[in-house]
Amino acid sequence: MNMYQGWQELTRRDRVFNFMVDTDQLVPDTSKGIILYVENLSVSFDGFKAINDLNLYIREGELRCIIGPNGAGKTTLMDIITGKTQPDTGSVFFGQDIDLLKFSEPEIAQIGIGRKFQKPTVFEQHSVFENLELAMAADKRVWPTFNAKLSAEQHDRVDAILEQANLVELKHSPAALLSHGQKQWLEIAMLVMQEPRLLLVDEPVAGMTHQEMDKTAELLHELAGDHSVVVVEHDMDFVRSIAKEVTVLHQGSVLAEGSMEQVQNNPQVVEVYLGE
Ligand code: ADP
Ligand code: MG
Repeated sequence: MNMYQGWQELTRRDRVFNFMVDTDQLVPDTSKGIILYVENLSVSFDGFKAINDLNLYIREGELRCIIGPNGAGKTTLMDIITGKTQPDTGSVFFGQDIDLLKFSEPEIAQIGIGRKFQKPTVFEQHSVFENLELAMAADKRVWPTFNAKLSAEQHDRVDAILEQANLVELKHSPAALLSHGQKQWLEIAMLVMQEPRLLLVDEPVAGMTHQEMDKTAELLHELAGDHSVVVVEHDMDFVRSIAKEVTVLHQGSVLAEGSMEQVQNNPQVVEVYLGE
């Protein structure tokens, strides 16, 4: 039995506190154009089905919005994909070949799934630039070659993401001085420094001004293509402004999927939202 087979025998939970697998060799097989396969997924909490036979496919490079009323299971779905929650039944694959249910939360992050939580968690006392530098240093692939100074190539990456995140002028400001929206952008930028293939973003525009919302939509659009981006959002105006494929969750299952216009005109979706 080689090491790969060895750890596959262990469950996600066994391995959380034991050892981390060397994930560098794991590259998802996306030859069918799909980065994430979620099939027949269910999980119950005290008998309540938070996720109920859910099926979801995310294409490589797409920008997908997941919407749905409170309690629909959006955050629970993210928790399962990222290894925080173990489902009762079903499967979650990264590409065709990587069974994510076998991996712990930190392993899944290393394999290439970045998650942005609702509350920004930046290092307040450090500058914007230092925050990005720290995010890069936290990347296991960079760590062995990371020294006090960034390489020219690493500098270019920092500058490119600063540009995308509207933070060029704030490069040397302490993160504590940023607005709520700017902190959200910085945190997304920090995730991007680690080059995730799939980026999960939970309610990015909560508490943002309209202008900040527009810029966030722009940023997420720019990140799609190079990354696959899944945005969970409550704010319908924002989802409309992103105007890509939308998945509507309701009672733990997919109720509708399609363009914003299609789902908005779906009678079942109208009923769910009006019934809120
Ligand atoms: P959403 O993000 O769509 O608002 P959630 O995924 O947070 O919905 O929650 C779905 C349902 O599952 C809710 O009824 C919530 O109360 C319940 N739930 C989520 N996590 C837990 C948990 N750890 N224990 C018990 N119930 C939970
Ligand atoms: Mg939620």
